[in-house]
Amino acid sequence: DASIHLTVRIARLGTRFVLLLAEDRTESVRLDAVRRDFVANISHELKTPIGAVGLLAEALEHAADDPAQVQRFAKRLSKESQRLAGMTQEIIELSRLQAADALADPQQVDIDRVITAAIDQNRVTADAQRIQLVSGGDRRTRVWGDEAMLVSAVHNLIANAIQYSVAPARVGIGVSQRDDVVEIAVTDQGIGIPEEELDRVFERFFRVDQARARATGGTGLGLSIVKHVAQNHGGDVRVWSQPGRGSTFTIRIPRVVDEPSAAPQPVKAR
Ligand code: ADP
Repeated sequence: DASIHLTVRIARLGTRFVLLLAEDRTESVRLDAVRRDFVANISHELKTPIGAVGLLAEALEHAADDPAQVQRFAKRLSKESQRLAGMTQEIIELSRLQAADALADPQQVDIDRVITAAIDQNRVTADAQRIQLVSGGDRRTRVWGDEAMLVSAVHNLIANAIQYSVAPARVGIGVSQRDDVVEIAVTDQGIGIPEEELDRVFERFFRVDQARARATGGTGLGLSIVKHVAQNHGGDVRVWSQPGRGSTFTIRIPRVVDEPSAAPQPVKAR
């Protein structure tokens, strides 16, 4: 929609002057639409797990005499409620990220700490699914930003790489520095993404295969969060993938380049 929306306000100043105030509202109209869309998506996506919780609770009530069934329903109930909790968490994270184009209080963040934390958070799942996490590259660099957000972005990429791998397999986490940019690449040898879907994987709630993604507990929000984190840090995220071969996701962010100090530091005399 390329039309321009103007708010025109007319203010009377005394009896003779009329002041005309025009304000371009194109951006705020667009943001309103994004917000409405998001809320509509959320309501739609939440209906399924909430419905399931209701049905399972009902089934539990009727299965009271059959301990094996009670146990089965209870297990599924707990899984659905965990899914709901995870989804709620991601929705909150994403709406927070969408609310601001820039970071409120950027700090210098150590990339080594970010990668270490993101790998540690995925270690248990990787071991359980027989996926080996292999990391490499020079991580000794810093970026301006928010450490928790960056950890969450890298965490999401590693979690996806594990989830869409076929065990036993490796997931690589590499860091490289080029001029004033640091690139974090997460590579898997998993199922890959069909070329025609590549553009869409960063969309909110998008999943390549709805049924499979639901079965594996996906929400379709992870990559959308990664994209917003990268953008809020002045960077971007890209993907290369081949079905049946695997995928590589890269986050590129401007890094802190140390200025050579103007004057050499005086050496303290003993
Ligand atoms: P989800 O919670 O479903 O993983 P994401 O936003 O993280 O949501 O990813 C969106 C979709 O992109 C996934 O459902 C999956 O189909 C696809 N996808 C993401 N990462 C990978 C990967 N490493 N390999 C294959 N497919 C992937």
